[in-house]
Amino acid sequence: MLNLQIADTFSKELPADPILENSRRQVSNACFSYVTPRIPSSPSLVHVANEVADMLGLSTEDTKSQDFLDLFSGAKVFPGSQPYAMCYGGHQFGHWAGQLGDGRAINLMEIMARDKRWALQLKGAGETPYSRSADGLAVLRSSIREHLCSEAMFHLGVPTTRSLSLCLSGDMVMRDMMYDGNPANEKGAIVCRVAESFIRFGNFQILASREDTDALKQLVEYTIKHFFPSIKTKGEKAYQQFFDEVVTSTLVMLIEWQRVGFVHGVMNTDNMSILGLTIDYGPYGWLEGYDKGWTPNTTDRQHKRYQYGQQPTVGLWNLFQLANALALIIEDVKPLEQSLERFKVQFAQGYTRMMALKLGLTKATQADLLLIKSLEDNLSMVETDMTIFFRLLSTVQKKDKASEAFARIADAFYDIEALAETELKKWLDWFTAYLRRLQEELATDYERKIRMNMYNPKYVLRNYMAQIAIDDADKGDYTMIDTFYKMLQKPYHEQPEYEKWFAKRPEWARNKVGCSMLSCSS
Ligand code: AMP
Ligand code: MG
Repeated sequence: MLNLQIADTFSKELPADPILENSRRQVSNACFSYVTPRIPSSPSLVHVANEVADMLGLSTEDTKSQDFLDLFSGAKVFPGSQPYAMCYGGHQFGHWAGQLGDGRAINLMEIMARDKRWALQLKGAGETPYSRSADGLAVLRSSIREHLCSEAMFHLGVPTTRSLSLCLSGDMVMRDMMYDGNPANEKGAIVCRVAESFIRFGNFQILASREDTDALKQLVEYTIKHFFPSIKTKGEKAYQQFFDEVVTSTLVMLIEWQRVGFVHGVMNTDNMSILGLTIDYGPYGWLEGYDKGWTPNTTDRQHKRYQYGQQPTVGLWNLFQLANALALIIEDVKPLEQSLERFKVQFAQGYTRMMALKLGLTKATQADLLLIKSLEDNLSMVETDMTIFFRLLSTVQKKDKASEAFARIADAFYDIEALAETELKKWLDWFTAYLRRLQEELATDYERKIRMNMYNPKYVLRNYMAQIAIDDADKGDYTMIDTFYKMLQKPYHEQPEYEKWFAKRPEWARNKVGCSMLSCSS
């Protein structure tokens, strides 16, 4: 048996749904329902993130054991554990959707490992009372995307849930991938996610919407007690402070997304972690050409609510919804409003600081705002690869002429010929200003390059790369999953052996499903 020390808190300290029957229904006066994962017909292990296993105190030997496969494919319930699904609601695409909940996520247990508590959660392990009209399952394609991206984001330094393992269930799952009336059978898969907690904004919202004051207070106090140890006050003051801290961590996460060019794709309030972790990797994507208006999510193609450039605004909107929920148990809502106001100011400051660091500037001055703004405009003129641009920018030398500096980043353009003469002039003007600004920096070119390369990744999980791993895995070859897993553990390192992945998206991937277009179907 695996040596896991159960340390449940969520299910021990919060109200449980008294009904044990696994039927789809509205669950009131409760934070979760007990459920048992579905038994897969012939489970097999596809990939393990060894680093996560180690974090949980599991050895390589353990990860190869039958017990490991049994537990993380949902085949067997760990002795002494009581799996459950959480109840939450949410605003989907700007509209209140009522009860959503863990429709295909099942929390196995919380454990203590290396003096830290971790929640383990299977995704795709079968239906729960919250499955609504869906099947509770997940397909291999979306599970590979979640597994690889969670780990890639962690190593980029972006707050995120982690992924321990990826298993095949051995069962087929029917999906209409593009919602165009062409359903097909796909391999079913199960990911085991790991986080301090999987609580979302929606967990609070659902209780507020039902005016369940007692449970809402209980959930807020539970969350503060376990995850916000710096809050020493009690009652309303503590709730206000709690909200303020959620604003801060959400803000930090959003700036990080913008830094690396990550587009979540479905920033509904049920997909917002109360700990400011990136959660629910669905139709996400990575900016290749820098385009503030880009979203990978085909379901959002019309309104593009969750486009790259709008993520901060949507984050604030989501925080506003959380504040609304908390207002049920807070009389004086002024501090909540102040926290929301502060978001706007601090986001602007944080974003400028982040962009300055991407440019290798140690501190941002008022004049740098203009430099940043004109850079964004220039990057948007013709298709320009964000990751490659910033990585190559670190090779600029203070002694360069504008044209020499420009030549250093020329590889970032998908079609440099597409630059009109006036656009080329804008680039040369920008480099003239940038080079002038670099003269004010004390660091040498070498020192600046080292610093920039620790901030501007060389390797990200480009949309087409995940698709290559998926296509191979569909045929039973998991080599690329492990290759990308390893490469993305060191996204800031040169890693010459992976140089071919430091390249623009190939032309074949431009409009291919799974590469630039993702649907919510997963
Ligand atoms: P999402 O926006 O994809 O994170 O999911 C929205 C809601 O739909 C959540 O409550 C999910 O648990 C639920 N959901 C998504 N896919 C499935 C599925 N295949 N089976 C059951 N519930 C699902
Ligand atoms: Mg979700």
